[in-house]
Amino acid sequence: MAHSGRQLRVLLLGGTREARELAEALSDDGRWKIISSLAGRTRDPEAVPSEIRVGGFGGMEGLAAYLKEEAIDLVVDATHPFAEVISPNAVDAAAQAGVPYLRLCRPAWRAEPGDQWQLVPSVQRAADILSPGSRVFLTIGRQELAPFFARDDVHVVARMIEAPSDPVPPHVEIILARPPFEISDEAELMHARKFDVLVTKNAGGPSVESKLIAARNLGLPVIVIERKQNGVPVDAETVDDLIVLLDQHYAT
Ligand code: NAP
Repeated sequence: MAHSGRQLRVLLLGGTREARELAEALSDDGRWKIISSLAGRTRDPEAVPSEIRVGGFGGMEGLAAYLKEEAIDLVVDATHPFAEVISPNAVDAAAQAGVPYLRLCRPAWRAEPGDQWQLVPSVQRAADILSPGSRVFLTIGRQELAPFFARDDVHVVARMIEAPSDPVPPHVEIILARPPFEISDEAELMHARKFDVLVTKNAGGPSVESKLIAARNLGLPVIVIERKQNGVPVDAETVDDLIVLLDQHYAT
């Protein structure tokens, strides 16, 4: 991975805070030409200081063709830990195109003393095990709400950045808010709404961890949807570590 002197073209697979932060960190560094890629799920994504392309590539083959056509020198995959299709596709596409691939992925949260976590393998399972009549604080985003929309025997308060596309049934209340959240605000919300349980994906990362700390302090049970192992090795867990890797591999 030696640096030839010209700008290196980096396809940054994004849709996460880390991807935005990485684009910001590299935007003033003349070594890189960053092309941020978004799936296009969000109607109003936060601004990213780089060239942006939006939408799927058309599977692994489409991505491999894109890498060749756009003369991409390096793929940095900073997609969400629960985006399960794009990372294995990107590994294979990069290999097919002969382009290096680096995965940036925040570590999963781990239960700490005082936590009352119940681990489940899927969103569907999280919805299935809710006790009838319970008051549920749901923080899994807007894309996989269907199993909770179907549970009309519980009351759900679902927090997300952008409203869901599907009609919301009467037993579900939507709160629109963008992280980060303060622990004290999370605790106040949990207390005021008298939640019986918090449901979250094990997304990891500091910006939305405050809900877990608040739940621990209040003794609120948490249903934690576990990550699936996709076999893609993680090269860096933080933006800073990824930048160190880039500096090591690409001398100025
Ligand atoms: P996914 O299941 O891994 O991907 C589904 C398809 O969406 C992929 O096959 C690809 O289409 C396209 N895609 C995904 N990420 C892309 C990107 N960065 N640029 C261009 N195309 C992309 O992903 P997902 O769970 O639907 O998530 C979609 C996006 O939302 C991801 O970028 C992810 O980082 C972000 N996100 C996901 C979650 C979550 O909980 N899943 C949470 C926060 C943010 P083609 O096969 O056509 O290339």
